[in-house]
Amino acid sequence: MLSLTPKKVSERSAIKINPAKTCQPVGAMYAALGVHKCMPHSHGSQGCCSFHRMYLTRHFKEPAIASSSSFTEGASVFGGGSNLKTSAKNIFDIYKPDIIAVHTTCLSETIGDDIGSIIQDIDIPEGKYMVHTNTPSYVGSHVTGFTNMVSGFIKYLSVKSAVKNGKLAVFPGFVNPGDMREMKRILNYLKVPFTMLPDTSGVCDAPMTGSYEMYPKGGTKIEDIKKLGECELSLALGEMTSEESANELKRKCGVPYKALPLPIGIEATDEFVMQLSRFSSTEVPYDLEEERGQLVDIMLDAHPYYHNKSVAIYGDPDTVLGIAAFALELGMVPKYLVTGTPGIIFEQKAKELFSKYGVENYIAKAAGDLFELHQWIKNDPVDLLIGGTHGKYIARAENIPLVRAGFPIIDRYVHSYLPIVGYKGAIRLVELILNAIMDKQDAECNEEDMEMVM
Ligand code: SF4
Repeated sequence: MLSLTPKKVSERSAIKINPAKTCQPVGAMYAALGVHKCMPHSHGSQGCCSFHRMYLTRHFKEPAIASSSSFTEGASVFGGGSNLKTSAKNIFDIYKPDIIAVHTTCLSETIGDDIGSIIQDIDIPEGKYMVHTNTPSYVGSHVTGFTNMVSGFIKYLSVKSAVKNGKLAVFPGFVNPGDMREMKRILNYLKVPFTMLPDTSGVCDAPMTGSYEMYPKGGTKIEDIKKLGECELSLALGEMTSEESANELKRKCGVPYKALPLPIGIEATDEFVMQLSRFSSTEVPYDLEEERGQLVDIMLDAHPYYHNKSVAIYGDPDTVLGIAAFALELGMVPKYLVTGTPGIIFEQKAKELFSKYGVENYIAKAAGDLFELHQWIKNDPVDLLIGGTHGKYIARAENIPLVRAGFPIIDRYVHSYLPIVGYKGAIRLVELILNAIMDKQDAECNEEDMEMVM
């Protein structure tokens, strides 16, 4: 397995191998699915759209609807304006969404289609909407596309208002519907009135009812996006994913924002909870304190099994940093952090985190790939891998247990329904980490060392 990956690391400037990211439109499509009765629309050739739908479907094991402008060679040369106009008419006529959210592909970006102007020329039916964002795939990653699409909704729909509605705008970051549900549960515990954008719960984890619903019950309502401008404050969860969208709301509607890390692990969840408690002037309820106490109890109970274990974490920047912070709280040693998403801020944040814990021997790399991560592991192995499915080849090649967390996980089921955020999510992460480490111990220890009680 991966036997052609050499141990010797050589500087690469042009070749990426086994990247830890995908392209912008995937994130834009996911963000658009988090708006109620929205049809994500890919302005470019059809292959991109098929690939991106497939990518999301493989992760969520759910339908991921989207339409395409289906460029041909002609549109690629002369522009895709008429393709988008025809698409809009067909989509509103046939699929009847309330809103079409257009994103772009490399092709339409390279030829420079002016989507804003094209949309102005489209005869949008009464009461329906069309918004857009530019998602050039040669910039950033799927995380950038997610951010851009969320900002696109705000740019088009949110309205500045002098009258405040007492609500909190919540940007949850690039997380699973299970995480969004957990965030909402905590928001409700703290009695915070809020609007979450996007909200893919009830869409990407919709129940089986026996009849196919193209637009399931979930998703942020258009009316609520319009009223984001009336919010008192917005909370950007995951600074590298959400801060730009919160900033867009501030620029357009004057809503101040606070950026926090994704609430993964104890300290980050505490910060989230305390922020909500301050916002709603509500005491933290006992139920949440109990969950926190259970988490601490579990961490103490199982401490000998994960203490000092080294771990490599890869995936999206906010998720990787969140898991790394929790690994440090557990007493583990996060040795390698890799995100495919470019941005020096990832490395700076990692540096701050590690210096807080006095850890020096680590590597944190943005715009990295799994090929290089594998090379580092060959030279100096780790006890555990945490990340998406693409790391399973390294796990097998080096006989390292893999905990699946983040995006994409395309070789397992159920994961997207369950959180890794909040105290409950942290309890789940501890269980996943422990099971991976203990299963390996059971499988490989000498017969006389096999323990019934662990
Ligand atoms: S990189 Fe460009 S061509 Fe490839 S799938 Fe993404 S948008 Fe399409």
